[in-house]
Amino acid sequence: MTDTAKLSENTRILSGRCAECGIMVAGVIKGASGIVDVARAMVDGGAKMICSSRLEQLKRCKEAGIGVPLLMIRIPMLSEVEELIATADVSLNSEVEVLKALNAEALKQGKKHKVILMADLGDLREGFFDHGELTAAAVLVENKMDGLVLAGIGTNLGCTGSVMPTEDKMLRLAELAEEIERSIGRELDIVSGGATSSLMGVFDGYMPKKINMLRLGAGLLCGPLEDMKMTYGYDQMDALNDDVFTLRAEIIEIKDKASHPIGKLGVDAFGQKPVYVDRGIRKRALIAVGRADYGDISDIIPIDEGVEVVGASGDHTIIDIEDAKKTYRIGDIMEFRLHYSAIMRLTGSENVKHVIK
Ligand SMILES: *Cc1c(COP(=O)(O)O)cnc(C)c1O
Repeated sequence: MTDTAKLSENTRILSGRCAECGIMVAGVIKGASGIVDVARAMVDGGAKMICSSRLEQLKRCKEAGIGVPLLMIRIPMLSEVEELIATADVSLNSEVEVLKALNAEALKQGKKHKVILMADLGDLREGFFDHGELTAAAVLVENKMDGLVLAGIGTNLGCTGSVMPTEDKMLRLAELAEEIERSIGRELDIVSGGATSSLMGVFDGYMPKKINMLRLGAGLLCGPLEDMKMTYGYDQMDALNDDVFTLRAEIIEIKDKASHPIGKLGVDAFGQKPVYVDRGIRKRALIAVGRADYGDISDIIPIDEGVEVVGASGDHTIIDIEDAKKTYRIGDIMEFRLHYSAIMRLTGSENVKHVIK
């Protein structure tokens, strides 16, 4: 279940906080499989752009009439250039070859497509690692590519390389922006300082003035269940809702069983050898949802007191309810809060019914 009012509220809170630092929020919908209502809720809450790494998701937003610019945040595939120009208003880029193809296609479609060039500041996913090449590409777009508009530059941190958006990284991005501005003789519209993890700069008050956009996904979708709170302890996340998404699953079996498997142990359904703790006979509920739907049991958090997720296979999850405050019956619904990757999987699953509130 998706509570769009709570998502709008999260967006409003973080947009307000960012606005104090002169930063606009672009809402990233890929974590919720691009549900159009999610995009709409983010726009209602103040997101000035909607972003996705999947063109299909942006296409749905365009068709639904989401009224803000659409930003493609995965470096475009050469094979999707035509559709990208038709669908997205802006894209993140790091390859001159792709920029050339985008330019040619934009001219063909009679459009001006905006590009944000990515600088790799050490997280080692996308972006120009050689910053001389970044400036050269910026000058090329500015002077030689009439189908493109150089909207600005950006970076991504805290993803594959887990590099934190520390002050030196943000200052480096601001410095690169100024270097490019000197080379092209005008100001850039957008300097995009990263994703949810870059809220650190906002919360700790070190964001350089030059940085004026963040691309927020997880922070809006998960609130305090995001790393900014869970790992780094930022209390500023406490004001946000952690229940934008709720998993509701039905109990199909309740029995007292041993807590340690009985027999010679091999591997489980995923080829793993889990360690089982023998806690004697315990009351367990089996619910009709499994790892095929949400991924990992650590990413679902039971709401009811005294219950614990103890294991799962593809289509079943086992809940220890021995110490539960509630009395459960077959057919009852159990509810769970969700971490980011569970939200991503569940919203994308065809076997899960999606309810928008
Ligand atoms: C996924 C993604 C984001 C959003 O990241 P969150 O951690 O969910 O805020 C921003 N920028 C890029 C390039 C991304 O791929």
